Amino acid sequence: MSPTATQHIIEVCYLIATALFILSLKWLSAPSTARRGVLAGEIGMALAIGGTLLHHGIIDYKWILIALVLGTIIGVPLGLVQMTAVPQRTALSHACGALCVTLVGTAEFYLRSPNVPRFMMAVLCLEVILGSLTFTGSLMATGKLQEVLPQRPITYRGQNFVNLSLLGIAIMLAVLLVLNPGQKALFPLIVFIPLIFGVMMIIPIGGADMPTVISLLNSYAGLSAAAMGFVLDSKLLIIAGALDGSSGFILSVIMSKAMNRSFTNVLFGAFGQVQTSAAGAQEARTVRSATAEEASGILAAANSVAIVPGYGMAVAQAQHKVRELFDALTKKGIDVKFGIHPVAGRMPGHMNVLLAEADIPYDRLLDMDSINPDFPQTDVVLIIGANDVTNPAARTDQSSPIFGMPILDVDKARTVMVIKRSMNPGFAGIDNPLYYFDKTLMLFGDAKGFVGDIVRELTGGGH
Ligand code: NAP
Repeated sequence: MSPTATQHIIEVCYLIATALFILSLKWLSAPSTARRGVLAGEIGMALAIGGTLLHHGIIDYKWILIALVLGTIIGVPLGLVQMTAVPQRTALSHACGALCVTLVGTAEFYLRSPNVPRFMMAVLCLEVILGSLTFTGSLMATGKLQEVLPQRPITYRGQNFVNLSLLGIAIMLAVLLVLNPGQKALFPLIVFIPLIFGVMMIIPIGGADMPTVISLLNSYAGLSAAAMGFVLDSKLLIIAGALDGSSGFILSVIMSKAMNRSFTNVLFGAFGQVQTSAAGAQEARTVRSATAEEASGILAAANSVAIVPGYGMAVAQAQHKVRELFDALTKKGIDVKFGIHPVAGRMPGHMNVLLAEADIPYDRLLDMDSINPDFPQTDVVLIIGANDVTNPAARTDQSSPIFGMPILDVDKARTVMVIKRSMNPGFAGIDNPLYYFDKTLMLFGDAKGFVGDIVRELTGGGH
């Protein structure tokens, strides 16, 4: 095939891939089209890789083949992790992408130096600075979420000054390099300093904020890939990087809003360190607990039930039992809805994915703003492994670390039942006053086991 014909095929592959990436993001935004979105993204990526492999600049496929085998060996187990481990898995993918961007940027610099035009040098600097800090930042985030590193924020005096100075020095060196691209000795520094900055940036951030930070790192990885697109003159990379960069940023904003936190608070607030709030005052209080038999009696007598799932449902993998409960209650003519908080679980859409896996109809899943006005007319709220997202202290206790976070107003329902294993706090590490209310019944046990017991009682399988 002539080089021009090959070039045309490559261009067409890239064009279709670009369109598929955009459609993929669009389709991923609704549960009913999400599978199609994943498929579109996969086909787009296959076309992008296929097109690149046709490139006439490639004279030896040996190294590419080795890289493909290595990538597959790493990628397949990464795709098989538990749903609850997806945030750290995603962070690890960002680390790999960012390392790749940094290495390509470094190779391009040494190939082109000293004849690097100023614009190109500026883009190269942006690429390696963002790439390096995203690489170590993402590795740190993975370590914190996987609990191989301490989750608690580690802070010291002048920390923000030290961190911002490091970044400032890297940017100054980048400016010097742009002005004089021949100063090769400066280049290793703009790789090395952001590597340290990436570690220092994550140290003061607590585990609870990691998902937000991960989507921010996702955004950085996308922007550095877009910069790489300019360096390599690849429109596909520029577009894919920009899509990645902007969607990561939008997601971070949505998550911050759902927690009523500003970006600066997430990045510099050391959230999760001070966890006292009004917990001390509640120590002497008692809670009321109930058995599965009693809980099923209360549910069977209700006209309307709202189920609020949280991280505990994910840990227990209780979604299929929850589906059985949904079936048993709807069979009795009870109106059952699900209240989904935007940050319930450990990643955006966590609850939607699990409930969709159990084939619970989408129209029964209501987001926070839609279900909150219904709670005062709801007979029973059944909370399954959720905690922080139902904590009324977010509305009433100004000293609470989650004060101001929008929550599901479950305390306004007539009766509240909470399935959890103990009185241990949730991810924010704070007590939940809801458990001490007169209208609240604690159902102590594993989510899957307890929901299973309730279903047995409801369907007559109990004693
Ligand atoms: P949560 O506040 O972390 O509470 C989960 C509860 O589940 C715990 O209190 C735990 O109590 C219980 N649990 C754990 N394993 C269980 C099991 N096997 N069976 C029954 N219960 C179990 O969860 P959440 O209410 O879903 O709130 C999410 C938290 O993550 C929020 O603080 C949110 O800000 C944060 N976050 C989420 C995202 C996101 O994207 N989703 C992002 C950033 C931050 P026991 O130990 O007593 O059982």
